[in-house]
Amino acid sequence: MRKRIIAGNWKMYKMMDEAKSFVAEVKGRLPETELVEAVICPPSLFLAELVNQSEGTSLKIGAQTMHDAAEGAYTGEVSPNMLADLNVQYVILGHSERRQYFNETDESVNRKVLAAFANGLTPIVCVGESLEEREGGKTVERVALQVNKAFEGVSADQAKEAIIAYEPIWAIGTGKTATAEDANDVCKEIRHEIGKLYDKNTASAIRIQYGGSVKPANIGELLSMEHIDGALVGGASLEADSFVKMIEVA
Ligand code: PGA
Repeated sequence: MRKRIIAGNWKMYKMMDEAKSFVAEVKGRLPETELVEAVICPPSLFLAELVNQSEGTSLKIGAQTMHDAAEGAYTGEVSPNMLADLNVQYVILGHSERRQYFNETDESVNRKVLAAFANGLTPIVCVGESLEEREGGKTVERVALQVNKAFEGVSADQAKEAIIAYEPIWAIGTGKTATAEDANDVCKEIRHEIGKLYDKNTASAIRIQYGGSVKPANIGELLSMEHIDGALVGGASLEADSFVKMIEVA
């Protein structure tokens, strides 16, 4: 039985006050259950505060990106060691917006995945095809390549702990969700790919999220699918009510 995981990707939204009010409200309302994990990934400026605020609750905190080096002359960047030092538990890596606007590549995502594991952080590795790739019938090929690259040098034991987020780029922030069947088909292929890279146990242990316009109204159907173990949620994770609702459905 894979534990479900709902992660909110706040992107570059909210002020500190709003972030704190969100956590204050949500932490008392999360259902007490071992069956689902709730994670919030705020802008990095808020990480320390939100980790402290959620201590002793079931709410977990993740970063949205990081550098792969431990330290160095990388103006503006945050290192895996710094995140681990703050007790951040998760880090989103290779989000399509990072790939598109900040030149992240399959190679740099792989370095970051290795650095995350080396520092005890759990990576949420994002993969997904563009509309052009989908229409050209290239979805599985594209996503399989991203998975293969991202997991180069990762051991089976580490891979079992990793999260993969399948996020079709055309579904992010557009209100267009992949049908639950289509999303499940791709998640199944991803699991198959992990099985080829490692073994059956690793494939059945790894958790795969769907992301792209997930909201309280559609999360139930997505999660009812065999290969979808959770969701990476942008817009609908910004409101405490809707975030709590999604955790309750999960
Ligand atoms: P969305 O974003 O839920 O607003 O579509 C998802 C994501 O980018 O992770």
